[in-house]
Amino acid sequence: MSERAKVLKGVQEKVMAGQRIGPDEGLYLLQRTDLLDLASLANAVRFRLHPEKVVTFVVDTNPNYTNVCETGCLFCAFHRKPTDPDAYTRSVEEVMAKIEWAARQGATTVLLQGGHNSDLPLDYYLDLVRTTRRRFPGVAPHFFSATEVREMARVSGLSVREVLEKLKEAGQHTLPGGGAEILTDRVRRRISPKKGSVDEWVEVHRVAHQLGYKTTATMMYGHLETPEDIVQHLEVIRRLQDETDGFTAFIPWSFKPANTRLWKWVQEPAGPNQYLRIIALARVYLDNFPHIQASWFSEGKKTGQVALHFGADDLGGTLIEENVHKAAGYVNTTTLDEVLLLIREAGFRPAQRTTLYEMLRYF
Ligand code: SF4
Repeated sequence: MSERAKVLKGVQEKVMAGQRIGPDEGLYLLQRTDLLDLASLANAVRFRLHPEKVVTFVVDTNPNYTNVCETGCLFCAFHRKPTDPDAYTRSVEEVMAKIEWAARQGATTVLLQGGHNSDLPLDYYLDLVRTTRRRFPGVAPHFFSATEVREMARVSGLSVREVLEKLKEAGQHTLPGGGAEILTDRVRRRISPKKGSVDEWVEVHRVAHQLGYKTTATMMYGHLETPEDIVQHLEVIRRLQDETDGFTAFIPWSFKPANTRLWKWVQEPAGPNQYLRIIALARVYLDNFPHIQASWFSEGKKTGQVALHFGADDLGGTLIEENVHKAAGYVNTTTLDEVLLLIREAGFRPAQRTTLYEMLRYF
């Protein structure tokens, strides 16, 4: 047996026995294993956790409240300076009109995000949550990533804990996992030097979990990271999950370079091979995460569908509205019927879920 086959056999035996793999083994799987061997390992873990041939999705929308941002991440095509002609900040009523439109189409989750705009007081954010809860009881406000919460704390002079307590009192129970990009300070310093450190991102999620929030963890790869950075990212979120058990899902996507300053270094998005490797590695490595989310949106419908055979048990949201990828020249849309078809074609039964992965209906 070759050295490579021996290492793979060792990792397979460990994973099949329900044991945890370490960073070196993760790196080996990411870099050196045949893709289909990795898929088979990930699938085994997926069906151990979720034995039914069911794939979930959520009916959701991703509107934005402002594109004004002072942070200027090199990978971002969405942000604008306050003086730019296409800069905007929406009133609470304007955001509610978007939520109402999505709710009429059946949305149960609204992922609302925006830039770091220091003109917005904490009351604006609390009003967004309270008004959503009052007017649309069937909609979960899945608002504001960790870095926006830190911005609210900075502007209001409160601590992150106090801000999260106030958002919770207003009716918010989950946070999206955006702003993670790659959770190593080496990469963050290069692609988003003003966006905060790994510890700061982790601390927001830690405090949120302590207060009873559920959150997701994301990863944006395919720029200046190394395979070691990817494994380190998984290690960081796995450790926090051991401590708090507050993550519901892991959601990776590839960097889209058009219209960004990072385009100078990276002109092409990473392809399906890397996406499928990361999905499968995540399913094996994140043994304490209940769900791994594939995306029809960020990687294309066929790749998203194939990822369901690489360990993912969820196909994300129907995304009635999305503007961040659109700003980077990447547009993709779907319908409920198409999501059902993608899941069925892949050999699974579709089920609509809530933000917290409770089942709403089987199709
Ligand atoms: S990614 Fe977010 S924080 Fe960074 S520039 Fe864009 S809007 Fe601002």
